[in-house]
Formats: sequence, structure tokens, C-alpha cells
Amino acid sequence: MTSASWHTAQHEEFRIRVREVLGDLVLPHADRWEEQSYLDPAVWKALAEEELLGLGHRGEAFLESALLLEELGRTGYAGVRASIGVHAYMATSYLDLFGTPGQKEVYLEPARRGERLAALAITEAEAGSDLSRLRTRARPSADGGLLVSGEKLHIANGSQASFFVAVVKTRDESAPARGLTGASLLLIDADAPGVQRTGQKMLGWRSADVCRVVFEDVAVPEDRVLGRRDQALVHLIRGLDFERLVAGLLAVGGVAHCLELLNEHVRRRRIKDTPLYAHQAVRHQLAELVADHELVGQYGWHAALLHSRGELDSRTATVFKLKATELASRAAHVCLQFHGAQGCLDESTVARLYRDTAAGTIAAGASELLRDLI
Ligand SMILES: Cc1cc2nc3c(=O)[nH]c(=O)nc-3n(C[C@H](O)[C@H](O)[C@H](O)COP(=O)(O)OP(=O)(O)OC[C@H]3O[C@@H](n4cnc5c(N)ncnc54)[C@H](O)[C@@H]3O)c2cc1C
Repeated sequence: MTSASWHTAQHEEFRIRVREVLGDLVLPHADRWEEQSYLDPAVWKALAEEELLGLGHRGEAFLESALLLEELGRTGYAGVRASIGVHAYMATSYLDLFGTPGQKEVYLEPARRGERLAALAITEAEAGSDLSRLRTRARPSADGGLLVSGEKLHIANGSQASFFVAVVKTRDESAPARGLTGASLLLIDADAPGVQRTGQKMLGWRSADVCRVVFEDVAVPEDRVLGRRDQALVHLIRGLDFERLVAGLLAVGGVAHCLELLNEHVRRRRIKDTPLYAHQAVRHQLAELVADHELVGQYGWHAALLHSRGELDSRTATVFKLKATELASRAAHVCLQFHGAQGCLDESTVARLYRDTAAGTIAAGASELLRDLI
């Protein structure tokens, strides 16, 4: 892990405790979760009991969250870290920022206690990088609420979620609309009539429970609009910066795990009577990765500190997410290369890391989009 000088002794103690908790609650089960494609429901309450689901999203308290996110990454299971990251941060951040006291009581507090699982439903078949192409719509219902119809794709925690934070067009079709104007964030209960969810088998992130979610005339009461009606864009700008910070911190932890594996392997594996690391070609690639991990990790802490002061800007969040996830891809590639055929075995940890990094540079903003933004 990076040796950031701004970590206090309490931060390091917290990190050690988190590592131990994840070692108990996650690592012994994660392979099975990858098989079944979702986390055991019991883990959510267990994480909450360890006070790891309700850490701060804002202020100085966020620094503990940043440590948790890095340690989740360091478990080496991108599916697990995505599932927890979406629940505890990416989806619930909108409730934390824009929820009414009533919405917080019904959704956010139970989520923090591990009683209700959250998912974030933004992406659609035609609307991934370009959210102006959203098709999921809400029309007024007779009782003054909304009826939502449409299809969301690639939704983590999809089958197990108790509710979705969904982006839906709410403005009347006939009104002039440009880009994402006229969309709202809605809280949609997953057990409401008209909600269907189907698992999507992904290349990586297999325990993240990625699903297709269909809404067919789903009744959503008016008081489930999260934030300002028709103003989702304004809320998303803030939420997406936070999402990129979270994704970057998870990726930095993932790189730490990958480097630990690689380091151990190049010392153990012998070629021509010397360990692999005795070859300069190997050592220099490892050194490059270690150096870049240090740089990106420090930048991530800079971003986390800015966020904790309410000063995170889009550019910093974007640069960090881009660099952290691309470094994770490079590290996984080098790791696989130096493991040789062992790393190509489907069931190997190295193959999983390699598969998992593919989605890292796509989800939460594809690298090309991020470069455009920068
Ligand atoms: C494992 C996984 C989990 C996910 N979880 C969720 C979730 O929980 N909730 C949710 O709402 N979404 C989720 N997503 C969806 C994710 O946010 C989208 O995949 C992402 O926004 C990109 O959209 P897209 O896949 O439709 O790709 P597109 O928008 O079709 O883009 C395809 C490719 O085009 C390129 N591209 C995009 N923009 C530009 C540009 N400006 N210039 C040049 N090239 C460009 C990029 O290479 C990009 O990968 C998940 C995705 C994955 C893979």
C-alpha cells in the first residue's frame, strides 16, 4: 500500500482493523460468491455490525471510507468490491446528498444497517457514456404518482437489491428537452409489481450480481423523487465525481493486491537457476508498476482529502479514475505475463484479476470519455 505521509496513526490502526475484518468476512467466501454471482445476504449485516457500512461520505469521516475502499480493492475480488462500493457509496451517496429526512429513514438508514441493499440504475442499451439517450420514462399515474417503464442494463447488485436509485425521464415528451434535461432520480422498490431482473453473465466482476432490470408500469409514489424533479443532471454531475473517486480508490487497492502476487511470484519462480526477479527485464517492469502505484495512490489521497474538505473538482476525480483503472489493467497484464501459462488457467487468481480489470476502464466512465472530459 502507498506510504502516504498524511495518514495518521489512527488511520493506520483503522486500516489494519478493516483488513482483518475483510479477511474474516470476505476472503473465506469470495470464491463461492463469484460462483453464485452475488454476496451472501448475511454479509451485509455482518459488515454493518463492524461499522463498515455507515462510514462517512463527506467531511473528515470520508478518509476512513477511503481506507475501507482501498482495502476492499486489496481483497483482489473486483466483483465483491463493486458490490459493496455500489451499495455503501455509489448508490447511497445520492440519498446522503439529496434525500429528504423521510427518504433517509426508509432507505439510507436501513442500507447502513445492512437491512436493505442498494443498486444504482443509470445505464441503458443506448445510454451508457451518452446519457442524453435515456429511454426509461415515467408518466403521471391517476393517484398523483408516477408509472415507470423501461430497461436498465449492467446493474450491479441487480437481483439482490431491495431498491434502485434510478435515472428516469420524468418530463412530458412534448416539452422541449436537450441532453439529460427532464430526468429525475427515483427511488424504486425492487419488489414493486412490474420490476423484473435477470442476471447477466459477465467476463469479470462475477460476484457483483450484474443484471438487466426491466420496469413495466412500476408505480412510484411522488415522494420517491430523490432531489429536484427533472434536475437529475445537476445531481449526477456531483454523484459521478464521487463515483469516480470511489472507483479510483478501489482500483488502487486492486493494484496493491496484484503487486503483492507478482512480487511473491517473481521471487519464487526460477528460470535458469535464478528467480525471475533476478532478470532486469522483469525487475524494471515491476519497478515501473510500483512507482506508478505510489504516484497514483498519492494522487488518490490528494483527491480524497479534497473531497473531505468539500473541494473535489471534476478534473481531479476524472484524472484519478482514469489513471488508477488503467494502471490496474497494466498491472494485471504484467502479472499474467510473468505467471506464464499458470496465469492463463481459467480458475487461477491471476486470470480472475486479468478478467476483472477489463470492466474497470469502462464502468463509472470509459477511459476515452474521461480523456475527453480532461
Ligand atoms: C461490470 C460492470 C458493472 C456495471 N455496473 C453498473 C451499475 O451498477 N449501474 C449502472 O447504471 N451502470 C453500470 N455499468 C455500466 C457502465 O456505467 C457503462 O458500461 C459505461 O457507462 C459505458 O457505457 P456503455 O457500456 O454503454 O459503452 P458506450 O457508451 O457504448 O461506449 C462504448 C465504448 O466507446 C468508447 N467511447 C465512449 N465515449 C467515447 C468518447 N467520448 N470518445 C471516444 N470513445 C468513446 C469507449 O471505449 C467505450 O467503452 C456497469 C458496467 C460494467 C461493465
